[in-house]
Amino acid sequence: MYIVPEAAIAGLMTREDAFRAVEAVFASMARGTARNFPVIREAIGHADALYGFKSGFDRESLALGLKSGGFWPGNAARGLTNHQSSILLFDADTGQIKAVIGGNLLTALRTAAASAVSIRHLARADAEVIGMIGAGHQAPFQLRAALEQRRFRRVLGWNRDASKLAKLAAVAEEFGLPFKAASPDRLGAESDVIVTILSSFAPVLTAAQVRPGTHLACMGTDTSGKQEVGADLVAAATLFTDEVAQAVTIGECQHAVAQGLVAADDITPLGQVIEGRHPGRRSADEITLFDGTGVGLQDIAIAAKTLENAIRQKVVVEV
Ligand code: NAD
Repeated sequence: MYIVPEAAIAGLMTREDAFRAVEAVFASMARGTARNFPVIREAIGHADALYGFKSGFDRESLALGLKSGGFWPGNAARGLTNHQSSILLFDADTGQIKAVIGGNLLTALRTAAASAVSIRHLARADAEVIGMIGAGHQAPFQLRAALEQRRFRRVLGWNRDASKLAKLAAVAEEFGLPFKAASPDRLGAESDVIVTILSSFAPVLTAAQVRPGTHLACMGTDTSGKQEVGADLVAAATLFTDEVAQAVTIGECQHAVAQGLVAADDITPLGQVIEGRHPGRRSADEITLFDGTGVGLQDIAIAAKTLENAIRQKVVVEV
């Protein structure tokens, strides 16, 4: 079996590889050849930790595996990342373990790739202003991947703690773009694309603050009770997601569904757009919203590509 340690991942996975792996697996999900299995997430009653598994199988690529990990709130005090994860890949023919792969950086890259795929397929072609809501660990990854999807001319950002916005300003500078801190009102009024990446339990943006034609990628809500945007905004948008079953239970759509404003049938898997079975955006005035809940197949797809790159570059440990 192979081991690809966390420290080796940065040299093995590019944003482009991550984008292609995630786009391909969303398409496989839409064709019905790749399937996510039910998610397990439990409070373990120790260290305040939430621990779980996300798993799935892609019958086309034969990628089979799981991501195991969760959230350890005390880690930061130990100089460690609070979110910890590892990905296991198995041989689909025999069930034997194939690889153990560090999952922390890959989680950030695959999550950023998901919103980037949504921007590529759903944002207006003439989008110029991107608004970032949130400036935590995931946010710079989100911004980098998003900026590659359109010819953006400026970046706006909002975060509860404004001092953290410097991280986003630095990413904008990497791309030679101006960055401005903005209130949710201003950000909503001026942005063509908005990425939300918060661990919030109340909406920060509502329908009245967002202008027609905006594309939103709501990426932070991945648990029951979390919320980034108002149910009215979800109801006003044409809805897309990675996995409908997750969108209605743990995703941004959960609140609008609970209030009877939208139903599962109103939400289209993004893979259907990638596959050309759904037109995606139909007009320049439409608000599109991608509810990125995070699926195991994203982790498995990016891990499989990482393993391929690691073997080719001979930076893999074989035991
Ligand atoms: P983080 O802890 O580093 O950052 C959290 C962000 O949320 C910060 O910007 C913080 O200011 C903001 N925030 C927290 N509470 C808030 C509140 N009550 N109101 C407004 N803002 C608030 O977390 P992170 O690693 O950047 O992750 C952000 C979110 O993305 C988390 O909810 C995480 O679970 C989720 N996530 C989703 C996926 C996916 O696939 N969809 C993958 C990874 C992480």
